Amino acid sequence: MPNLADLFTRGGNVAIKLDDVELTYDQLDDAVARTAGLLQAKGIEPGDRVAVMLPNVPYFPIAYYGALRAGAVVVPLNPLLKEREVAFHLGDSGAKVLFAWHHSANAAHAGAEQAGADCVLVEPGALEALAARCEPVTHSVPRAGSDTAVILYTSGTTGTPKGAELTHANLIRNMEVMRALFEITETDVTLGALPFFHAFGQTCALNATLAAGGTLTLLPRFDAAKALQIFERDAVTVFEGVPTMFTALLHELGDASSLRVCVSGGAAMPVEVMLAFERRFGCAVLEGYGLSETSPVASFNRPDRERKPGSIGLPIDGVELRLLDDGEIAIRGHNVMKGYWNKPEATAEVLSEDGWFRTGDIGRVDDDGYFSVIDRKKELVIRGGYNVYPREIEEVLYEHPAVREAAVVGVPHASLGEEVGAAISLKAGVTASPDELRAFVKARVAAYKYPRIVWLLDELPKGPTGKILKRAIVPPAA
Ligand code: AMP
Repeated sequence: MPNLADLFTRGGNVAIKLDDVELTYDQLDDAVARTAGLLQAKGIEPGDRVAVMLPNVPYFPIAYYGALRAGAVVVPLNPLLKEREVAFHLGDSGAKVLFAWHHSANAAHAGAEQAGADCVLVEPGALEALAARCEPVTHSVPRAGSDTAVILYTSGTTGTPKGAELTHANLIRNMEVMRALFEITETDVTLGALPFFHAFGQTCALNATLAAGGTLTLLPRFDAAKALQIFERDAVTVFEGVPTMFTALLHELGDASSLRVCVSGGAAMPVEVMLAFERRFGCAVLEGYGLSETSPVASFNRPDRERKPGSIGLPIDGVELRLLDDGEIAIRGHNVMKGYWNKPEATAEVLSEDGWFRTGDIGRVDDDGYFSVIDRKKELVIRGGYNVYPREIEEVLYEHPAVREAAVVGVPHASLGEEVGAAISLKAGVTASPDELRAFVKARVAAYKYPRIVWLLDELPKGPTGKILKRAIVPPAA
């Protein structure tokens, strides 16, 4: 089993592009070799942790594969982290070196100092200048498939960040499945908009595209108008995104006629958004499902089988899904993490001895074996003893012509325990009152389910990948 760093091969094709900066596979390989040399010169040994806190710029793959080539374990971090968060992640993972983007220099330096790590500030030219003095490492330090390649921090089901340990075998096989499913080749151009520090962007965009010899065109901060310009400028063929990105694209003018593969994941894709996107751009959207702990892909609406909108499709090859007694989805297969770094108890809570990982998502399966996510266990709203699944109510809200985005959450209530609340943002140029939206849902679902509290926001809060962040939604004061 090769080192994950060996997934791409040398050549003259453009590997990475950021506007007018282009890096061929040969140039990427040289930069990776030098960066591995830099880390070795700093005393990094196989198994040591190296944190990479960079946006989607060409230095991300250079630092990521450079650390892997030196045999290190990569700890990808969100470049927006503040000092104490940086210190926590470096301390928890025991990272010795941090590659940080110059925009976050203050937080990175201060956090690294607290944690006793060496901070390498990355800005255009700086890494090259440092690495140029080091001996290139032309052959990756050999690693076993079961060796940890990446520690991905995720809040999982409980909220405290835990590091999911993903092995070289986990990540290589998951990337292979993605590449094969969508037949990604060297002629493909993928938009690199999903952050690479997250599992979805890392496996499906970064690793799958480079393993295929294709070109990755980067968009460090998602902006729908800019994405459409890049679609046209670079004739993008593959787009992977979270549902909020698809929604945003629908609301911009532009064309995307070169698109061949569109993949949605990371959160439930509202059926209305999926169908509207297809009508507008003429490319089918295939939805998949997974978690950081599963490298991430676990199931997909495969292109070679019937697609069922609203479902997460069938388990991918080599992976099994099943429903536990309470409806929770469990996953077993080559994609399941080794465990949470240094957290045997948290690991034992989610991983059974026979390899089943509990996802914390509630699901359903139909007669053809297609799974659907009804909701996350912890997002379930219990109103006066009745279960209300936010997802179901959100799907109804998306059917309203004025609704752009909707998030249904539980609002604390004295006698019911929780009341159903809905935060909504509207499409540009249209109006709808909270009363009208409430009545719209009331007419379509059982009486205990419709949102009694509806409020409008200009925009719903989003997490680092662009997923709607329910934790950050604060209901209006009663
Ligand atoms: P993360 O570890 O950040 O990738 O988040 C994983 C979580 O995202 C899962 O546990 C699900 O709750 C959610 N998720 C991912 N894909 C989907 C999907 N297609 N439909 C619904 N929820 C999803």
